[in-house]
Amino acid sequence: KEVKVYFPSKSKLYAKSKSVVKAVDDVSFSIRQGETLGLVGESGCGKSTTGRAVMQLLKPTSGEISFAGRKLSSLSVSELRQERKHFQMVFQDPFSSLNPRLTVKEILDEPLKAHRIGSAQERWGRIRHIMEVCGLNHNYASRYAHEFSGGQRQRIGIARALILHPQLVVADEPVSALDVSIQSQILNLMQDLQEEFQLTYLFISHDLGVVRHICDRVGVMYLGRMAELATTEELFANSLHPYTKTLLSAIPVPDPRLRKDRIILQGDVPSPINPPQGCAFSGRCPNVMEICKESRPRMLNVTGEHSVACHLYG
Ligand code: SF4
Ligand code: MG
Repeated sequence: KEVKVYFPSKSKLYAKSKSVVKAVDDVSFSIRQGETLGLVGESGCGKSTTGRAVMQLLKPTSGEISFAGRKLSSLSVSELRQERKHFQMVFQDPFSSLNPRLTVKEILDEPLKAHRIGSAQERWGRIRHIMEVCGLNHNYASRYAHEFSGGQRQRIGIARALILHPQLVVADEPVSALDVSIQSQILNLMQDLQEEFQLTYLFISHDLGVVRHICDRVGVMYLGRMAELATTEELFANSLHPYTKTLLSAIPVPDPRLRKDRIILQGDVPSPINPPQGCAFSGRCPNVMEICKESRPRMLNVTGEHSVACHLYG
């Protein structure tokens, strides 16, 4: 709840003012069991940082992250270690996220060993099984990751995330590095695996087309804050936040008659080091009002499944 992740600013320009980068500023949401929640926004909006905070890869400056009703910050190191099995991450770059000195078998065996699961034989059984369900022939288990194509490497990355039978998988741009033809194979695989293993996904992406395809609900982030959160259907049919409308207007539509006028934003993306006082989007918003520059809009529930942070509403 109300998670903040601030980093001390490394920029020399700002060194004197002892500023912090407000990478994630009061973001609050919950992920429901079995759903795919998307986080979208431009690079630097804080979506990856939010995902890493959920994964406990970095500590929020303030705020709480709970998993299955337990506050993660209140757990001891060994309890957290135990709990970590239940949430795993799939990374964007299947080329750099797999250790090139390890074989596929070793890559998949690592998490099992770390959690002291099973005998060598049991672990090998589990490795073979997870390879097969991820569409990898287990006869290739003794090969090194670099011997595989990008799509196959991402299958290995997914297999590694799933081998501990997690409940939540945080996937940060899992298909962005892949060819478009391979992207849909990986997305379909993720959907099949979700059903088979009853997984919950936090799906981080800048690609609205991908998000629309796979997510049940979508949160739109701008400059470290949540701008709008709704079911995917609702968001694409009835977006409310001016920033979301801008994003949606930028999606290419094949039929020109269906094309909405693309909204071109004025101004630069403000820096998270020095975000605007009121609404983070106020410097670029086509609907900006006086109040927007002074007061920060709170997230407001518009209908049951639709919340927005904007002074135009409420
Ligand atoms: Fe635009 Fe104001 Fe809404 Fe911000 S609060 S998105 S500036 S209308
Ligand atoms: Mg990112």
